Amino acid sequence: MNLTSHQILKTIKRVIGDHESFVPLHEPTFGGNEWIYVKECIDEGWVSSVGSYVDRFERELAEYIGVKHAVAVVNGTAALHISLLLAGVKSKEEVLIPSISFVATANAVTYCGAVPHFIEVSTETLGIDPNLLEQYLNDISYRKDGQTINRITGRIIRAVVPMHTFGHPVDMEPLLEVCQRYGLVCIEDAAESLGSTYKNQHAGSMGLLGAISFNGNKVTTTGGGGAIVTNNTEIARKAKHLTTTAKLPHKWAFIHDEVGYNYRMPNLNAALGCAQLEQIDTFVNKKRALYKKYVQEFKSVEGVLLFEEKTGVRSNCWLNALILDQPNKLLLDEVLELTNSNGLMTRPVWTPLHLLPMYQDMPSMPLMRTEQLQYQIINIPSSPSLTGGR
Ligand SMILES: *Cc1c(COP(=O)(O)O)cnc(C)c1O
Repeated sequence: MNLTSHQILKTIKRVIGDHESFVPLHEPTFGGNEWIYVKECIDEGWVSSVGSYVDRFERELAEYIGVKHAVAVVNGTAALHISLLLAGVKSKEEVLIPSISFVATANAVTYCGAVPHFIEVSTETLGIDPNLLEQYLNDISYRKDGQTINRITGRIIRAVVPMHTFGHPVDMEPLLEVCQRYGLVCIEDAAESLGSTYKNQHAGSMGLLGAISFNGNKVTTTGGGGAIVTNNTEIARKAKHLTTTAKLPHKWAFIHDEVGYNYRMPNLNAALGCAQLEQIDTFVNKKRALYKKYVQEFKSVEGVLLFEEKTGVRSNCWLNALILDQPNKLLLDEVLELTNSNGLMTRPVWTPLHLLPMYQDMPSMPLMRTEQLQYQIINIPSSPSLTGGR
């Protein structure tokens, strides 16, 4: 029998049970010290960019990820923007990014005056495919003075931004080898992957810099927020400076030594973040339990699989994803229609970035898998609170 949208709806319901109200894709859980910490900020008047929760949040986040430094900022997009600048990305240079990502990855490259260059993904990880990338670079680039030049556009290819899709880590080891061979800086878009590890290393800690997001729909939230993480002390110092309007410390004078950004995370948000970080292990464990139930239940449904983590990695299982065996836009639309009208939020993967109007003329390698995956991927409800089903 052919796979039907009704089978998919039934199977999701079997996992998460019945719900009175609409089930979102991912909703935050506030079950710890959130109220106490936020109230303390208000009671003491430290709500803005000065205050002890920012320092504490940065310290505890760095410790959790296993990096030397974390710099808290207003959102994940700002974290990416500053990370790219500090990685040395300059105007008119190219940055390799997956076409399967949230638009922020490409936008941050564009904010630097640089050009996003789209790379194909692996069906194993849904992130950049290191082998295809290497073959491609071999074809289209040449080395000059330690730099990699795109022979078609004549531009320097400066950096690569792997994105750990839905929390599933990219195959980082071979990717970092490609970076080394081609002199590319690696900046991880770890916006979705706080709590994920690759060979016991945390997402965000393997590149020169990593960008994390604490938006309301991510594994832990600060309302809105982000962080730049790195092991490089000088880069961390610059990140703090650049995100604090490049103001030189002084008792009263306002002296700024370059064009900086007002990107620092307010104390109020950091307070929320501290309370959320205290619960991250619980969140991830619950999400992994839900993920395992989905895997189990979808094993018996023909024509579709739950996307599974690969050996050697541990995913935070941020968003569970169904993968149809074949691209099938008709079935995909049917499933989205049926589930959403039955109170379960589902959605397709982001429209591949190379198809968006502002990015369709950017350089890209052949993206056949990406274009097929857009009609195969369906994200399904993934909140940690959903583990109550049977
Ligand atoms: C969420 C997200 C971002 C941006 O984070 P914001 O905090 O919303 O600015 C960047 N990249 C990816 C892949 C994301 O999922």
